[in-house]
Amino acid sequence: MEKILVIDDSPVQANLLKSILEDTYDVTMVHTAESGLHYAKTGEYSLILLDVIMPSINGFELLTLLQKDASTQHIPVILITSLSDFQNEERGLTLGAVDYISKPFHPLVVKARVNTHIKLYQYRAQIERQATLDQLTGVANRRHYNTVSLERWQDAVRLNVPLSICMMDIDKFKIYNDTFGHVAGDKAIAAVAGAASARLQRATDLFARYGGEEFVTVIMGGTAADAFEHMKGIRQAVEDLHIPHNEAVSPWVTISAGGVTLVPGPRDSYDMQLKIADTMLYDAKRFGRNQVVWYSDTMELWRERK
Ligand code: GH3
Ligand code: MG
Ligand code: MG
Repeated sequence: MEKILVIDDSPVQANLLKSILEDTYDVTMVHTAESGLHYAKTGEYSLILLDVIMPSINGFELLTLLQKDASTQHIPVILITSLSDFQNEERGLTLGAVDYISKPFHPLVVKARVNTHIKLYQYRAQIERQATLDQLTGVANRRHYNTVSLERWQDAVRLNVPLSICMMDIDKFKIYNDTFGHVAGDKAIAAVAGAASARLQRATDLFARYGGEEFVTVIMGGTAADAFEHMKGIRQAVEDLHIPHNEAVSPWVTISAGGVTLVPGPRDSYDMQLKIADTMLYDAKRFGRNQVVWYSDTMELWRERK
């Protein structure tokens, strides 16, 4: 059930709106702009019904605050007021309200407008979600990775915590395609992505398709040894899928991975670390594939197989 936040200083008005909407929506009522802002920031609401005339902070002022805040600016706001003159209506819409309902209102009209804006909200949320995902594998796409990896890097610098970056690549995949065809190749890429992403489910884990048969992972916190072990587990999980490869190459489809862990400082660059991870990947290929090579924060090179 979608959640709607009603912000109205009059309990009678708020209750009236709630009674109109509560059979379809989960309605929360608050009676001050301050608590309205607080609730809006929880990220749970799909729509806000906002009364214009309230003591201390009024609806226009609160709308301005909601529009400025990155955590609330995506929530559609319908203004509810007895101010039925067009200047106020114009002002509310210019400030960013999606709609405007004048008191006294007809319950069916309120419901119809709310339904429309909830539908638009859901549609937009779905489009935004799809725009971050790779179509073939369902994991994060390169564009989403570009944005999120930078955020993680900045968080790690600010919080002074370790960050691990890992590049992964399917072994001898050109031969796989040549042997089994492109459609089978696509399926194998999706299966590998599924096995890896299933093991990267923490809120701060980022796993993305970097391109073709290459993937990238960014993990926050934990030691270099933790990340190295975790990546070895993922490499093993891919091998354990037992997707038959061209037998002249290897019994199963496998991946090689190269990673690096560091506590980034303000002078470090993400691109430089990604290059190191890529060099480690290159070494993993050179040392015989189906293995993980890691550059630790103590400047040692760790190899899965000697
Ligand atoms: P290596 O072990 O050194 O990584 O060998 P490789 O053959 O995997 O390396 P290379 O980069 O030469 O080839 C990658 C191949 O992956 C080329 C292409 O046929 C295949 N490939 C890349 N993207 C896709 C894709 O989206 N679908 C399919 N089916 N194949 C892809
Ligand atoms: Mg490749
Ligand atoms: Mg490859």
